[in-house]
Amino acid sequence: PLFRNATFEISIAKPSGLPPPSGAEVAFAGRSNAGKSSAINTLAGHVRLAYVSKTPGRTQLINFFRLNNGALLVDLPGYGYAAVPEKIRRQWSGLIETYLRTRESLIGLVLIMDSRHPLTPLDRNMIDWFAPSGRPMHVLLTKSDKLSRGAAAATLQEVRRALEPLGPQVTVQLFSSLKKIGVEEVERVIGGWLVP
Ligand code: GDP
Repeated sequence: PLFRNATFEISIAKPSGLPPPSGAEVAFAGRSNAGKSSAINTLAGHVRLAYVSKTPGRTQLINFFRLNNGALLVDLPGYGYAAVPEKIRRQWSGLIETYLRTRESLIGLVLIMDSRHPLTPLDRNMIDWFAPSGRPMHVLLTKSDKLSRGAAAATLQEVRRALEPLGPQVTVQLFSSLKKIGVEEVERVIGGWLVP
């Protein structure tokens, strides 16, 4: 599987620290506490590859992980944590935006949203801002174990419908790190990006 045995490569705190491109990059983004670290750990089959935050918003670094096919998983800092001072928040979004805007080896974005609170204004910003790049974006509606089967299906349909105007390069699925729901689907979608 694509993400199995991913290994930590480097962390950076500033755009100037970005390493020279050395493989196709798939970035993971999302509101802090949405479940991004848990999703990465689940995909990697690793309990603590990405740091699961007790305090949301603590991850201020971009972390690079090497996948077994040579590609890189890029873990972006979570956004939208209200308790962080405005100045720091601007620094983080500057780091995220610079990376997403300038990184030529970036081939696609995985956006993590809590399935109970999908498409917050900050998520919409990210989506509307990234989609015009023409690169694919795959949305994981995570913590789907917290919804009933019917509610999860309804949420999936709702989010798909909302994002449909952006075109077929934007895709959406249900995911649960707790119940390991949707792992193969993520691997299939991102595997498709990596094999042009
Ligand atoms: P991050 O800030 O986006 O990296 O979010 P974390 O991965 O640290 O998760 C935030 C909280 O949500 C933690 O308490 C996790 O245990 C919980 N969580 C994450 N994914 C799931 C999931 O799929 N199901 C459930 N029930 N809880 C989850």
